[in-house]
Amino acid sequence: MFHPPPEDVVAYLGSEPERVCVMQGVCIENPHVVVVTDYIPVANSSSSPELTFEVRKRDLRGIDYIVGFMHSHEESLPDPSPADLLGLPPGTVGAVWCTGAIEWYTPSGAAPIDGVISR
Ligand SMILES: [Zn+2]
Repeated sequence: MFHPPPEDVVAYLGSEPERVCVMQGVCIENPHVVVVTDYIPVANSSSSPELTFEVRKRDLRGIDYIVGFMHSHEESLPDPSPADLLGLPPGTVGAVWCTGAIEWYTPSGAAPIDGVISR
């Protein structure tokens, strides 16, 4: 089962590639079921922000229950890039949003995650 993110989040992610949101929530059966309760837009601090994303630790201060990061691609498929896999903090899950589709991943690659989004 999958619910797309709320409309305001979709609008934010879709406005340009490599936009980033912290996903707050919980992992159930880590990491295969993720319940996302909120999205918090954070700055993309990458030196090539049109190609990759990077989030500074200081931009995450005060944000708890971080389960992962969702970011956007403008290509036609939401496949995580090698940089996406390398840059994912241990213990979190990643999600790529691209034109209405989402691909979930862990540092080891694409993952069969059921993302249940509620807000
Ligand atoms: Zn990416």
